[in-house]
Amino acid sequence: MRLIFLGPPGAGKGTQAQRIAAACSLPHISTGDILRSAVAAQTSLGQKAKGFMDSGELVPDSLILDLVKERLQADDTKSGWILDGFPRNVSQAEFLSDLLTEIGQNLDHTINFDVPDDVIVSRMLERGRKDDNETTIRRRLEVYREETEPLISFYHSRNCLVPVDGSLSINSVAAQLESALKI
Ligand code: ADP
Repeated sequence: MRLIFLGPPGAGKGTQAQRIAAACSLPHISTGDILRSAVAAQTSLGQKAKGFMDSGELVPDSLILDLVKERLQADDTKSGWILDGFPRNVSQAEFLSDLLTEIGQNLDHTINFDVPDDVIVSRMLERGRKDDNETTIRRRLEVYREETEPLISFYHSRNCLVPVDGSLSINSVAAQLESALKI
């Protein structure tokens, strides 16, 4: 099974992706986690990405596309994957679509987590990650609306969009996902 988890920051994508990944033995590929590890390890990728992440901007596509291309061809991806946080704009989505054609993989579903802004802001302030201050949160939401939200219609027009109500409890969202994915 190959899945994209799409939705605003703080929508609970990571939490749900971890559960499905464990239940279905799929790798959970979070570009945010990969970038945070790179920042912590002070690699050259991390050094380049840090400023963008701290200010709530997307890191440039040039830092992320090759990384995803390699990751989707690693040995643990034979039976599928869950992509969390990628694609985040139309050019990343087009890159992914071309890549999947090239490597003979097929996307099964894009799960869209729908969550109102007030719920997002309060969840992120509770989470208290380093880039979770109010100014950055507001900027990330703007970037989400401008860059990432257009992907809802991108995947809707490809008939693979599965909507979930991400404002509900962790268990209710998990139940919606399990019934939609028949797992
Ligand atoms: P959240 O979903 O809470 O916004 P993530 O962990 O997915 O957080 O991402 C954290 C930060 O990492 C983003 O604000 C952005 O700067 C960077 N990032 C993650 N994935 C991408 C991507 N696909 N393209 C560009 N930047 C990304």
